[in-house]
Amino acid sequence: MTMIISQHAQPSVLQRPTGGRDLPVSIRPRPPKEKVVVVMGATGTGKSRLAIDLATGYSAEIINSDKIQVYEGLDITTNKITEDECAGVPHHLLGIADPETDFTAGNFVTKASLTMKSIVGRGKLPIIAGGSNSFIEALINDQKYEFCFLWVDVAMPVLHRFVSDRVDRMVAAGMVEEVRKMYNPNSDYSIGIRRAIGVPEFDAYFRAEYSSSCDNKTRAKLLEQAINETKMNTSTLACRQLKKIHRLRNEKGWKIHRLDATAVFENRGREADESWAEMVAGPGSVIVNRFLFN
Ligand code: ATP
Repeated sequence: MTMIISQHAQPSVLQRPTGGRDLPVSIRPRPPKEKVVVVMGATGTGKSRLAIDLATGYSAEIINSDKIQVYEGLDITTNKITEDECAGVPHHLLGIADPETDFTAGNFVTKASLTMKSIVGRGKLPIIAGGSNSFIEALINDQKYEFCFLWVDVAMPVLHRFVSDRVDRMVAAGMVEEVRKMYNPNSDYSIGIRRAIGVPEFDAYFRAEYSSSCDNKTRAKLLEQAINETKMNTSTLACRQLKKIHRLRNEKGWKIHRLDATAVFENRGREADESWAEMVAGPGSVIVNRFLFN
């Protein structure tokens, strides 16, 4: 994982102005608003990687804002970050909600607000990272914090290829077995974690597994269909998420800083890491630096 920012180069993000402490309350300078960084982007673009790169540079903690990763379970299917990938950075609101009930935008605002307060109280910077723009919007509308928005963007054709390959990697890593474990023929796919892409898509396949009259050829076909649908629905999700970011930027006037990560996906190995540092992590840290210290 690229770490491009020296941990020692920056003062603590929580250094508050000390002046004015002896003045009467009425004429003390108002403390600056607490600052929070938000990393946005469609699924698969590298939001988690950027959040972790920033967190290791600024003494920060990460709050998940993916409405499905918030649930406990389905770690492969929902593409939750692994402990190794966390690189020691504390992550919040990841796998904490009951998968059988809905975790709403209101629940998110309540929990994320408390978490931000406690992170700030520990002298650290909260970084919110995740693709659920409705959660982010609800939080921003409710808060008195000052936010810096970073958007990791990848050209759609490139992203479609990546998320399609990612589904193949998930299947190889045990996604089908993971979803099968929670399969129930009476499931309601509109509640909790069962809304995750990769769950309803496999319903017909698991139903066929249950049925003694279904031959192997038909089952294999249903499996292939389920995988293809998962790929298509992930691509559709990416397009919808991108549209919402455009809406927040163009119609709502949010100042969202775009970081183009396309080159990272077009390269491999060291070249991909160099593109990441040059196009995403480097410019991202310059923007955050300006936000925190100017
Ligand atoms: P919407 O209002 O459409 O729900 P949103 O911004 O609140 O949009 P998104 O993150 O775009 O939320 O998620 C929309 C849907 O995409 C989820 O209900 C779920 O079906 C699917 N989804 C989102 N994140 C994941 C994930 N990590 N794994 C699997 N499916 C996901």
